Amino acid sequence: MINYAARLDLESTQSTVLFVFSVAFQLFVAPVILILKSNATEEQIEHVLARVEEMGLQHHLSRGTHRTIVGIIGDEEQLREDSLLAIPGVASVVPVLPAYKLASRDAHPEPSVIDVSGVKVGGGQLGMIAGPCSVEDRDRMFRIAEAVRKSGANIFRGGAYKPRTSPYAYQGMGEEGLKLLREVGDEFHMPVVTEVTDPRLVETVAEYADMLQVGARNMQNFVLLTEVGKSQRPVLLKRGMSATANDLLMCAEYILSQGNPNVILCERGIKGFDPATRNVFDVAAVPLLHTLTHLPVIVDPSHATGRPDLIPACSMAGLAAGADGVHIEVHDCPEVAKSDGPQALLPEQYDELVVQMRRLAEILGKSISPLQEKKF
Ligand code: PEP
Ligand code: MN
Repeated sequence: MINYAARLDLESTQSTVLFVFSVAFQLFVAPVILILKSNATEEQIEHVLARVEEMGLQHHLSRGTHRTIVGIIGDEEQLREDSLLAIPGVASVVPVLPAYKLASRDAHPEPSVIDVSGVKVGGGQLGMIAGPCSVEDRDRMFRIAEAVRKSGANIFRGGAYKPRTSPYAYQGMGEEGLKLLREVGDEFHMPVVTEVTDPRLVETVAEYADMLQVGARNMQNFVLLTEVGKSQRPVLLKRGMSATANDLLMCAEYILSQGNPNVILCERGIKGFDPATRNVFDVAAVPLLHTLTHLPVIVDPSHATGRPDLIPACSMAGLAAGADGVHIEVHDCPEVAKSDGPQALLPEQYDELVVQMRRLAEILGKSISPLQEKKF
């Protein structure tokens, strides 16, 4: 966007930008700039202006030495990039403000702090999510929760509904799993997070869980996003494996636009070409997202790498890059885990890693958000 502007005639750019901003701020509407083709004819320019007026929008034409640009303001519903781009003579459409207006940092310069049943995530407080991939048998759940809590985890995880690549793979315990997860959370005074895979399940999952997870495979399930947006529960929104930062933020916008402001984003790896790791851990997404949004961003090195030997380094890298928390799968006997066993850390490995993460957090001026005292 900036490069485009730099290549344009300065005078024309400045006057249009000033026009667009001044009117936009007065009317509180989203401004857009059309850059016309260098060979746009007079007829095409006239047609562009007429079309813009027909769409009920206002325009401001600036003729530069090399390019002509048109500032546009008006009702956002009418400001459809595709329709504008289809007008003959239009080279590109440059939105001045991001389409994810509620999620954007412009709208909310201070970082948001999300409260997950007492555990604060964001603004220097770290959310440490740990637990098995799937909710499993009772004793095991209690054992793992006790161990990770002792190490410093402040949110317990476990999937009761598992979105599996194969329909024949383990699909989770369902509502029984939710009940068990809640029991564990209550016992250890830890908020719990679990995935909701279907819009019809949002109410049920919200009854038991402190935070709703929308998984990578469902990031763009817009019906699901709308439903979790109507819920009062915070949402952990995982980045889709082929999603851009913009895609992720537009999905967060779906949730925010329904009135739920409590969204935590999670970088969990994107598709790559090298099967040596399960995904590619996009650590740069953390500082990138922080420049674009006020929402907290956590990392999930378990799904990003799929390899326990790489999880410690990637957890530290995530924190060093500014992550507001770390999500790690932990299992006390990975070889019998119902899902994702090969990537699980053992409780003692997790314990060792948290010692390192605490040290780094201190250097960064951050701390692990504390839990309330245990009941027993
Ligand atoms: C999970 O957290 O167990 C999970 C399935 O994650 P993702 O959606 O990131 O693959
Ligand atoms: Mn998993």
